[in-house]
Amino acid sequence: MKHLPEATSQTPKVITRVTLYLSTTLWRSFLTLIIGLGVSITGRTQTLILADRVFDGEEMHQNWAVLVTANKITAVGSIDHIKAPKDATIIRTKGTLLPGLIEGHSHLLLYPYNQTAWDDQVLKEADAYRTARATVHARNTLLAGFTTVRDLGTEGAGYSDVALKRAINEGLIPGPRMVVAGRAIVSTGSYGPKGFDSDSKIMLGAEPADGNELIRVVRDQIGQGADFIKIYADYRWGLSHEDQPSFTSDELKLINEVTRSSGRVMVCHAKSKEAMKRAILAGAVTIEHGDYLDDEIAALMKSHGVTYFPTLAAVESIQQYRGWQKGKNQEPGLVTQKKQGFKIAYQAGVTIGMGGDVGVYPHGENALEMELMEEYGMKSLDVLKAATSINARMLRMENQIGFIKPGWLADLVIVDGDPSQNISSVRKVLWVMKDGVIYRNDFKK
Ligand SMILES: [Zn+2]
Repeated sequence: MKHLPEATSQTPKVITRVTLYLSTTLWRSFLTLIIGLGVSITGRTQTLILADRVFDGEEMHQNWAVLVTANKITAVGSIDHIKAPKDATIIRTKGTLLPGLIEGHSHLLLYPYNQTAWDDQVLKEADAYRTARATVHARNTLLAGFTTVRDLGTEGAGYSDVALKRAINEGLIPGPRMVVAGRAIVSTGSYGPKGFDSDSKIMLGAEPADGNELIRVVRDQIGQGADFIKIYADYRWGLSHEDQPSFTSDELKLINEVTRSSGRVMVCHAKSKEAMKRAILAGAVTIEHGDYLDDEIAALMKSHGVTYFPTLAAVESIQQYRGWQKGKNQEPGLVTQKKQGFKIAYQAGVTIGMGGDVGVYPHGENALEMELMEEYGMKSLDVLKAATSINARMLRMENQIGFIKPGWLADLVIVDGDPSQNISSVRKVLWVMKDGVIYRNDFKK
């Protein structure tokens, strides 16, 4: 291994960057005493990371040090200014320290459709089986450096996401911090699985509701543990199976109003222009997929402060499951269209989040979306921002995660190489910490 840290202890001289601004030695001794007591009495663990590069959620810094005390980041700054407290574990690395990455669009209850078709996962697999699989997906996600996920629906597995989140929060299983949708909402008749005799009662991948019934369903989903309300503003139920709006503008406004009054937000699956327009005007905070995004929609997203999740990786994966060999065969029209929409949004200055619809492709391969964002023309540093600070703002958790700043949660990842030069470096994960707990440490190997 090239970049081994030296796990040594050093005697504290200066504790935090703050002490630099303290003029008297008296103050300095006082601070040293306080923090010294913190270590000896409460037994709080301290880790000092000395990295060649630190990406703080917005900018890349050279030769920075980051001090972690218990589950918080307590000091950040130039290596020369931050010294290790007594008994601190020290990690030196030539790699890059990043805030824990945030997956903006996951389905931990799903797995790749080329292994088992979506219909079969929804209809033939018991929720208990799907949840058992999801525990493995959660672990793989965390070990890949993704310490938080926004999970956009269980697709027929009820509120298994709420239960999974609880098991992770209680420390029963390793996994990312989860922000969950629960069942999600569709309009009657739009969503699948489809194609069965109308006499048979077929369960759906989300909960159907219409008109005033939406009030009860939104409230019920909130009561069951949904952190936000996810709806399908359109679906491929047009006469030629094209994407057509599923809810009226009034229905969308009603969903949004009921959702907002609980302090939550509405997020919308929308591919067609009309559905995107209705969703944005009704108050959606994010648009998922947005296949038919054009200049008009980009301007609307921008003026309404909507975050766009293009889910490039899902589109490319599905095309590959259907036989497309990237680089060999002609590019499918859907992929070309995605590239076009992505460029329009990026050039227009739309806020673009990182969320690939992972589950369509394997959990733990979350970096695929980041690679495609770079391939489709986004600067690597902007991709890193999307997966950290931008996604944290989208989750309204920017005061806890997505940044490396004193006071923020110790969600940290070390990767080999420099992802601001080549985004694929985020795949070379060496070390993962979530909420102050180390879940992966390849330095020891
Ligand atoms: Zn999705």
